[in-house]
Amino acid sequence: MTEAEPNAMLADPVDDALQRAEGTFRSVRMIDGAATSATEGAVRWKPVKSIWIGSMTLATLILGPLFFTWGAFALFIGTTAVTICLGHSLGMHRRLIHRSFDCPAWVERMLVYCGTLVGLAGPFGMIRQHDIRDWAQRKPACHPYLSHGSSFLRDGFWQLHCDLVLRHPPVLQVERHVAEDRFYRFLERTFMAQQLPWAVAFFAIGGMPWLVWGVAARVTFSVTGHWLVGWFAHNRGRRTYAVAGAGVQGYNVPWCGLVTMGEAYHNNHHAFPASARLSLRSGETDPGWWVLLLLRRLGLAWNIRTPETLPFRDALVPLRDDGGVRSKAGAGVPGTAVRP
Ligand SMILES: [Zn+2]
Ligand SMILES: [Zn+2]
Repeated sequence: MTEAEPNAMLADPVDDALQRAEGTFRSVRMIDGAATSATEGAVRWKPVKSIWIGSMTLATLILGPLFFTWGAFALFIGTTAVTICLGHSLGMHRRLIHRSFDCPAWVERMLVYCGTLVGLAGPFGMIRQHDIRDWAQRKPACHPYLSHGSSFLRDGFWQLHCDLVLRHPPVLQVERHVAEDRFYRFLERTFMAQQLPWAVAFFAIGGMPWLVWGVAARVTFSVTGHWLVGWFAHNRGRRTYAVAGAGVQGYNVPWCGLVTMGEAYHNNHHAFPASARLSLRSGETDPGWWVLLLLRRLGLAWNIRTPETLPFRDALVPLRDDGGVRSKAGAGVPGTAVRP
C-alpha cells in the first residue's frame, strides 16, 4: 500500500462506516441537519402501495379458497420460505442493509433479487424503509408511524396503505457502489413487475391455483406478515437488553421465530444491529443464520459478524442475567470488550 492510494479519491464515508460495523452505534446512511426531526410529520395515504397490497389481498381472499389445491399450497409454502429467508432476511436485511457478512457480488445480487420478489419494495425502497426506522427508533422520541406506536388496527392501515411524510427528514445517503448498481436500479424501477415472469410461469405449469397461491397469496402473506411481526416486535414480547437513550426498544417474538427466518428476535437485533446472527440463546430459531452457515461452508460467505466480534456498545443494558451475551459489568464474552 502506498500513500498515493488511488481509491482515496473515491472515498465513500457510508461504505467505510458499514465496513467498520458502525451500525452498532448509529444509522450510518441517515444524515441529520440542524432542523431534522423524527417526530414532526403527517401520515398520508399512498395510492400505489395501497392498491398493490389491496388488490393482492382481495385476490387471495376471493380466489384463494376457489383455487385451493395441496400442490398450490406447497408452492406457496416453498416460494414464501425461499423469498423470505434468502431474499428478505439474508439478501436485503443482513447483507444489503447491515453488511453483516461478505459474499461474492453475484450472490448478493441473487439474494437481493429474491428479496425484491417478496413484494415489499425494491432494494432502495427497502433500505429507505428500514433505515428511517432504524434512525428514528434510536432517538429519544419519534413519530408513532416509525415506532409502530399506534393502536393495532391504525398501525396496520398506516403501514400497509400509507406513508409518513416527515416535515424535516434526514438525508438518506446510500453507499456509492450500491446507489450506482444498474441491476439494483432496474429492480427498483420494476419491483412490482418482477412478479410477472413468475406469474406467467406458474400459470403455464399449474394454471390458476399456482398463479393465485404462488403470487397473490405469497405476496399478501409476506407483506401483511411483515407489518404484523413489526407491530409485535415493537410492542409485545421478551426483552433481554435495553438500548440506553433510544425511545423505542425491540422485543423478541419467539412464536414467529421460525416463520420469519429469525427476524422476530428483534430485541436481539436492536442490541446488535450489525450482527448476522439474530439468535443469541439456545432455543432461538434462526433459519437465516443456518443458511448463512451453509453459504460459509460453500465458500460463498465470509467476514460474518456476530455479537462476539462487534465493537463494544456502551449503550447496551442487560435487563436480566439469563446467559445474555454481555454481562452487566460490560466485560462481555471474550473478544467483545473492544471500545471504538
Ligand atoms: Zn426496530
Ligand atoms: Zn435491521
